[in-house]
Amino acid sequence: MFRDACFQDDCNAEPEVEIRDEGLTLNVEDVETPLYEGCAKYTKLSAIVVLYKHKATHGLSDKGFYEILGILREMFPLDNVLPESLYSAKKLLKVFDLGYQKIHVCINDCCLFRKELKHLEKCPKCGESRWKLNTKTNHIYKGVHAKVLRYFPIILRFRRMSRSVEMTNDLTWHFTHKSQDGKIWHPVESPAWESIDDRWPCFALEPRNMRLGLSTDGFNPFRKLSTKHSCWPIVLVTYNLPLWKCMSQENLILTLLIPRPKQPGNDIDVYLQPLIEDLN
Ligand SMILES: [Zn+2]
Repeated sequence: MFRDACFQDDCNAEPEVEIRDEGLTLNVEDVETPLYEGCAKYTKLSAIVVLYKHKATHGLSDKGFYEILGILREMFPLDNVLPESLYSAKKLLKVFDLGYQKIHVCINDCCLFRKELKHLEKCPKCGESRWKLNTKTNHIYKGVHAKVLRYFPIILRFRRMSRSVEMTNDLTWHFTHKSQDGKIWHPVESPAWESIDDRWPCFALEPRNMRLGLSTDGFNPFRKLSTKHSCWPIVLVTYNLPLWKCMSQENLILTLLIPRPKQPGNDIDVYLQPLIEDLN
């Protein structure tokens, strides 16, 4: 997730900032260049971020976004630095994208085709093909997956959190802010928190250890009630953070996207494997 604080702290330190572990870099020039000469409110980067957020919020098509870029470029003074194409805008934003892994899943949710099962064509438990099957003709579309899980690796996201001084301070908030009035304002005052501390005292001693809540709910990505297709996002809540920050949208961490019409139920264990491994 993108954090202003993290980004600014880093920018002050180095002339060129490596934001992403894969080696993509962001020029400070792009961050500091005003949108046009004399523009005090927006830089090249902040203008693109605002426009892209507008695109995402209102479901604007790529074509619509490209047209708005063109209109704004004409409206602004000639020396404006708005990108000329959607591709250029996306390229600039790509450094903030931590990416995700696509993992093929058995159509019956028996297993993930990863590690020792990575090259299998059929599920070792139920025998179903990992590829899409035409149920009328029994034709298997090799190369077209039947079901795919999207995993957003958690380690890179934790690493990004630790790059911000503000965030690292917030992550230890729970250690010193337990309320004394006997009321539960934050999970740190709950019996469940105490029970975890009692059971794993070594873990409890280190305030920087992550206290995570895991939640999921189905949603329909196409916003149509008549369609049966839905997604089950798995979201991590960081309870280390202060009361007013732990449930805020920018601090919720999307880790898995499970594709299916029904709720995962007990099969959720299969999908959680990559997350649990990384957490361990
Ligand atoms: Zn299976």
